[in-house]
Amino acid sequence: MTDLPARRLLLVHAHPDDESINNGATMARYAAEGALVTLVTCTLGEEGEVIPPALRHLAADEDDALGPHRAGELAAAMQELGVLDHRLLGGAGRFRDSGMMGVPQNHRPGAFWTTPVDEAAPHLVEVIRGVRPHVLITYDPHGGYGHPDHIQAHRVAMRAAELAADPAFRGDLGAPHRIAKIYWNRVPRSVAEEGFARLRAADVEFAGVAAVDDVPGVVDDSEVTAEIDGTRHAVAKAAAMRAHATQIAVDGTFFALSNDLGQPLFTTEYYQLVRGVPGAPAGERERDLFAGADTGDAAGGPAAAAGETGR
Ligand SMILES: [Zn+2]
Repeated sequence: MTDLPARRLLLVHAHPDDESINNGATMARYAAEGALVTLVTCTLGEEGEVIPPALRHLAADEDDALGPHRAGELAAAMQELGVLDHRLLGGAGRFRDSGMMGVPQNHRPGAFWTTPVDEAAPHLVEVIRGVRPHVLITYDPHGGYGHPDHIQAHRVAMRAAELAADPAFRGDLGAPHRIAKIYWNRVPRSVAEEGFARLRAADVEFAGVAAVDDVPGVVDDSEVTAEIDGTRHAVAKAAAMRAHATQIAVDGTFFALSNDLGQPLFTTEYYQLVRGVPGAPAGERERDLFAGADTGDAAGGPAAAAGETGR
């Protein structure tokens, strides 16, 4: 355990591309600073729509070969961000993309959405106990925008954080570890509105403009507790998003998903601290997700199970 980097960040996402859109600048910044950045992606995004016409045959309703292709896109994106540790929950193909809410794929065998949380969570407990992160980033209870796999990723991440700290749970998965700080992805409403105003004034290639509430995690500014300035990593973030070419089209400081509706590409990323002690005075936003976390002790241990980890 002593050979782990001093600062360790874990991100849990539903599909390849979510990490680059939500956290690309944060991941690039902390990787550049020498932190261990670990990404766990819960599915391969097999049900995604495909943007480039030449690749449309990969989609689930044709060749159903999108999963392995997106694994390649993810690997390329991680190279752009400088992130070396990326994993698929339970191994490649263990949990399948459930599609949008209400579609028959929600109930396909192996679909992530219908997998019991306590069946998926131990896979993540093993990662948490191995990597021993100080900080976990995932979605809010609505998965940011209601996609079943995003909601399930939230549930599995929160449950695994709890179980990982419990000395009574599955000693075979490693020594207990309590994650000091847990964040949900957020976008302050004022920032989203400003971004869309910029977009409407810009000359971009997209068919239309998305709505503020299409952006996952938009909340009133007062709910945002941390902002991470990733301006210096803007190029890396855009490159990572471009690597997800089946899913994302990037044009300057804007991007679109398969609906071809433009959205702002944010290089400052925002979070809400939901577990742990804030590293900034009351009323001020944190500028470092590790602020206040005790990064001097890599050991954790059973005593760490007390405190903030309960619900
Ligand atoms: Zn997603």
